[in-house]
Amino acid sequence: MKRALVLMLTFLIVIFLGLTSGVFAADFPDVSEKHLNFDAISYLTEIGVIAGYEDFTFRPEREITRTEFCALMARTLGYDKETYVLADIPFYDVPEEYWGRGYISFCFEKGLINGMEEGVFAPADKVTVAQAVKMTVCAVGKGEEALSTNGEKWYSGYMTVASENGLLDKMSQKADENAARSNVAQIVYNMLMSDVFNEQEDEETTENPENSEREELSDEELSEIEMVFSQKDFSDVKVILVDAGHNYQGKDIGAENLDYGVREEEITWQIADKLRENLEDMGYIVVMTREKMTDSIANTSVTDSLQARVDLAHTSFADLFISIHCNIGNGIGKGIESYCFQLGGYSARLAALVQEKVSESTGLYDRGVKTANFFVNKNTLMPSVLIETGFMDNEHDMEILASRDGQERIATAIARAVREYDTMEPIENAAIEEENYDEEA
Ligand SMILES: [Zn+2]
Repeated sequence: MKRALVLMLTFLIVIFLGLTSGVFAADFPDVSEKHLNFDAISYLTEIGVIAGYEDFTFRPEREITRTEFCALMARTLGYDKETYVLADIPFYDVPEEYWGRGYISFCFEKGLINGMEEGVFAPADKVTVAQAVKMTVCAVGKGEEALSTNGEKWYSGYMTVASENGLLDKMSQKADENAARSNVAQIVYNMLMSDVFNEQEDEETTENPENSEREELSDEELSEIEMVFSQKDFSDVKVILVDAGHNYQGKDIGAENLDYGVREEEITWQIADKLRENLEDMGYIVVMTREKMTDSIANTSVTDSLQARVDLAHTSFADLFISIHCNIGNGIGKGIESYCFQLGGYSARLAALVQEKVSESTGLYDRGVKTANFFVNKNTLMPSVLIETGFMDNEHDMEILASRDGQERIATAIARAVREYDTMEPIENAAIEEENYDEEA
């Protein structure tokens, strides 16, 4: 029952690869590939900030309320229900218990809204195109510029600045009209793709050490880590580090398939996210290196990115490390391979199970278990595998990698491998993984 519910929610929330090409299009029957706003709708559904309806339609013509638009903007700009602390907001028509209060509060704090008039937000009113434009202009940091740009109407300055920055591309409605979902999706998409927004994001990323620079672990932390890991029984699994390979931006970007319009870091995250759900359903605790698809962990260099993943596994005292990647090779490679640092230990045991289950459930070519000096395998103190889930330049592999069903099959197979691993007896005289640690340090 719970599983079915989770599956259904996943279906409604996460949804669909296929960013710019039509190959894995958002398959809403009411949004054809020829729809003016098709790319925008596909992209936003894929990153999970907007969803279709239970009957699988998108309803592009439907108008939305001011609160619904706040919700969309908040989700797009990183609102997290679990951690967000409500601010005092000056709107008497938004009561404490109102479902959208968090979103409204978030947008208010970001300076995107200031209400209709003193004390009034009008949460259930339809959002107009002009109001949506104003919020996106403020979100890209151009609010003041718009205010000082003259015009006839209150929104003239916003419209001018929006147009100058590409925010009105493919918008089919006029400023005064109530915004339809198609146009709302388009303007949020325009915002995400705009140079002004991304320059601003880059600045924030460089300012925010958590998201860009790796923090060195202290000597105390390192010795505690070594102590804990020296006493662990690696045949018993509770905490699993799931590593969605590569970063969304910065130096550690993965492979790309231009025909499909997809990047490795998008596929690895999609699979990792499904793996998380499967493992959590089995009762495991999962730590993700990238919580959201658009996250980047220590994106200043590839080594920093990899070391940050290893550090996170150590500070979470994870029992297993599973890194998900996709292969690429001049058009002739195919199939799945699983890597560990050395044979004869727990990592190799897990790699063998993962390799067997994933190739079985996907039917992709079985390239077997291999050893390599991959950073995340070599430098982790816990059993660690890196799985290359298929080739991004192979048509047949891509059918699995870029489809929701294929990703789900990979994820459930890895989860089954973990569960089987967890039921097995300890290995006597297993290759000791912590030796690698000193070598690296
Ligand atoms: Zn990779």
